[in-house]
Amino acid sequence: MPVKHSFQDLQWTQGFISLGPHFFTELNPTPLSSVRMVANSPSVAELLGLSASFATDTEWLNILSGNHIEEPLKPIATVYSGHQFGVWAGQLGDGRAIMLGEVEHRGSFWEIQLKGAGKTPYSRMGDGKAVLRSSIREYLCSEAMASLNIPTTRALALVASPVQVVRETLETAAVVTRVAPSFIRFGHFEHFANQPDISLLKQLADFVITQYYPDSKLSLTPYLHFFGEVLKRSAQLVAQWQAIGFCHGVLNTDNMSILALSMDYGPYGFMDAFDMNHICNHTDTQGRYSFSNQPQVFHWNLVRLAESLVLLIAGDASEESTERAVEELKSSLAVFPEIYQENYQELMRTKLGLVNLSFDQQTSDLIKDLITLLHDNRVDYTYFFRQLATWVENPTTKIIEDLMMNRLTWGNWSNRYRKLLDILNKPNSEIAQQMRLVNPKYILRQHLAQVAIDRSQQGDDSEVQKLQSILSKPFDEQPEFEAYASLPPDWAQGLEVSCSS
Ligand code: AMP
Ligand code: MG
Repeated sequence: MPVKHSFQDLQWTQGFISLGPHFFTELNPTPLSSVRMVANSPSVAELLGLSASFATDTEWLNILSGNHIEEPLKPIATVYSGHQFGVWAGQLGDGRAIMLGEVEHRGSFWEIQLKGAGKTPYSRMGDGKAVLRSSIREYLCSEAMASLNIPTTRALALVASPVQVVRETLETAAVVTRVAPSFIRFGHFEHFANQPDISLLKQLADFVITQYYPDSKLSLTPYLHFFGEVLKRSAQLVAQWQAIGFCHGVLNTDNMSILALSMDYGPYGFMDAFDMNHICNHTDTQGRYSFSNQPQVFHWNLVRLAESLVLLIAGDASEESTERAVEELKSSLAVFPEIYQENYQELMRTKLGLVNLSFDQQTSDLIKDLITLLHDNRVDYTYFFRQLATWVENPTTKIIEDLMMNRLTWGNWSNRYRKLLDILNKPNSEIAQQMRLVNPKYILRQHLAQVAIDRSQQGDDSEVQKLQSILSKPFDEQPEFEAYASLPPDWAQGLEVSCSS
């Protein structure tokens, strides 16, 4: 299949827009002056069937900055509601994200969305803009997560403009082109359930099931089955976050993807010095969205989704049907902790190289004690697991011991670990090799992103591009970029990230 150059040549289809006007508002993005292409992702272009040369094409630059719109583009902003920090927030919606349309390529469907493209009817008090700082963070994280094999919305391009935007200080505007099979959130369901408008809610659920959960259609109870699938995927996703050491920062229900993709990267962080109670969003004073709370928060958010689906699952408004639906949803929700644990344990065993080992209890105790050990010693999470492979190969190395304040507990833990490794009866080099395939050497650390942001704000985008390239191969050694794998410098200790974006 030949790759396409012009936007008109792409295979545009009717996706979300086929739901009709109750679900969105048609509108054009607000143009931005003097735009430049900061970075772009050839692998996302490939997903769309788009030639990599789009990156140097003025027409594309104008489209991706909201400056040029023509048929078949049909820009829309969608409406949703949500719970923010545990409280019903009412109507929200795409306040600055504008969807250009949906593209089909090789049997896959992709929505294309401009984030930071101007005001919409859902902007409330906001200006509809996104600043370069937060856009770089979202852009880099989208692509880094994909390379870590973690489900995520993607980013095709990042464009910047000198147009000024007021935040805590004066900053400049940018637009990230996000790409995903769907940007539908839990909040879209909450919106119609809260009105309540059962017929629109049903229309939305039927659309999502048909497009993204076709297996649920075959079930005798499609809506309940669908909920169970969202729950399973969400449990898998948050297990992946916990295993890689990712903290999202703003896990409101309007930031929860119905496809269980990581999305809406705001004040996120990858764990450096491991702190299980780490809060990456400094406006989250209660620590509601702390690292260790994430699985419970997912569960809480799934309860909100379940509440939105009760009437659909009940089928009619009778008390009896409603009670039955509530009981069915409760049973479905009750398995969340178990599914989460299964996924998490499996991922952690793989990180430790302890695969196909039938010593579940010992391994899960070992994992639990390791988390305490890393927490008590504030060990750098990514660095530890990468170096652990070296220690597996060469037990005399002091590389890990030197990371520990308490060497005695490390000694005890490592003896137990070594015994389990020995049971595997495999060459240590082979185990280490497997471990390196799942424990990244390179991760998007705050200080690396900060350097790229500082340079880009001065007009030099090369660091963003370089970082994107390094993070596209996170498991490879890439010896020429060793410095990017090292521990954060002292100046990075005080870096704080807020919701402001
Ligand atoms: P967030 O916390 O970024 O997930 O945003 C929560 C809600 O506020 C969403 O409905 C966003 O679209 C909206 N929002 C955030 N920032 C802005 C902005 N600068 N202008 C308009 N709407 C915004
Ligand atoms: Mg959001």
